Amino acid sequence: MTVDHLTLEVRNLSLFIQSEGVDKTIFEEVSFNFSASSLLAIVGESGGGKSLLCKSLLRLTPGNARLSGSAVLSGLPTPIDLISCSESEMESIRGRRIGMIFQEPASSMNPVMTCGKQIFDALPKNVRSDKLLARRRIAELLEFVGFKEPNRIARSYPHELSGGMLQKVATVLAIAGEPLILIADEPSTALDAINRFELMELFQRLRKEFGMSILWVTHELRSALTYADELLVLYDGNMMESGKAAEIAEHPKHPYTKALMDVEKSFREPDGPRPIPEEILPAENRSAGCVFAGRCEFAKPICRIERPKWESGENRHGWRCHFPLK
Ligand code: SF4
Repeated sequence: MTVDHLTLEVRNLSLFIQSEGVDKTIFEEVSFNFSASSLLAIVGESGGGKSLLCKSLLRLTPGNARLSGSAVLSGLPTPIDLISCSESEMESIRGRRIGMIFQEPASSMNPVMTCGKQIFDALPKNVRSDKLLARRRIAELLEFVGFKEPNRIARSYPHELSGGMLQKVATVLAIAGEPLILIADEPSTALDAINRFELMELFQRLRKEFGMSILWVTHELRSALTYADELLVLYDGNMMESGKAAEIAEHPKHPYTKALMDVEKSFREPDGPRPIPEEILPAENRSAGCVFAGRCEFAKPICRIERPKWESGENRHGWRCHFPLK
């Protein structure tokens, strides 16, 4: 199903998790726009809040979590705020309007059910009610993701498939309900280079042939800059930079974005990888200033005492830094 004027408008989305009576901030004041057929990559190191940001859009957060802000999905007969809608409205969104591929493909599958039966359960109701049509759709979807023998895969149990094959079946499960948006949470982490490339090609086809919008969580900045239209760089729960991927590739404004680029470049250099240096700041300094100050080569005294404001440039390019790169 394609909705040409689909938009997802996320505004000031924050997630807090309560632990021992205090709210721990997981991410805060995240805002972005997402439109039909586009690919938005959320990039950053592990532990920066990327996965929980995606899960928050489907309200798949722990019981002790609290969300604030809004995420309005428009283009449907009635716009819906994913953060404040009722649980029954959210049930109709999960899998049907928004599908999700999880980091561990096996985690989204039932180990004692064949892949075909699991895909059947994820199909829209009108397809499920016609057994022949459903069987054909299952085979088509498995072929679409690259399986040469779809019927054999449909008869297989998850443990009979390799990691790359499981990832493809997980993708079919996520798109079987014909969602408008596909959230892919680090889907390529466990894949080799060939499977990774195939997955990225598959994303492009999903956009082109089904008009699907894709929100892709990754720590691979280089791939994100190659495939994504828009980029959102997240560090320690803070939006550091966002904008068009092509523009950020040419002119990164934030030292963290630039540092990620340099790390990836260093992997191809003879001296080997040079990670971003670590410096753990005392908690009182971290909460006051820039969260990246302890690792930033451009940090000045003000960075440690005053949190930078979000600045906006042209073409929706924005960044949070006292001293953006020229
Ligand atoms: S605000 Fe200061 S510490 Fe933070 S990224 Fe910018 S220059 Fe670096």
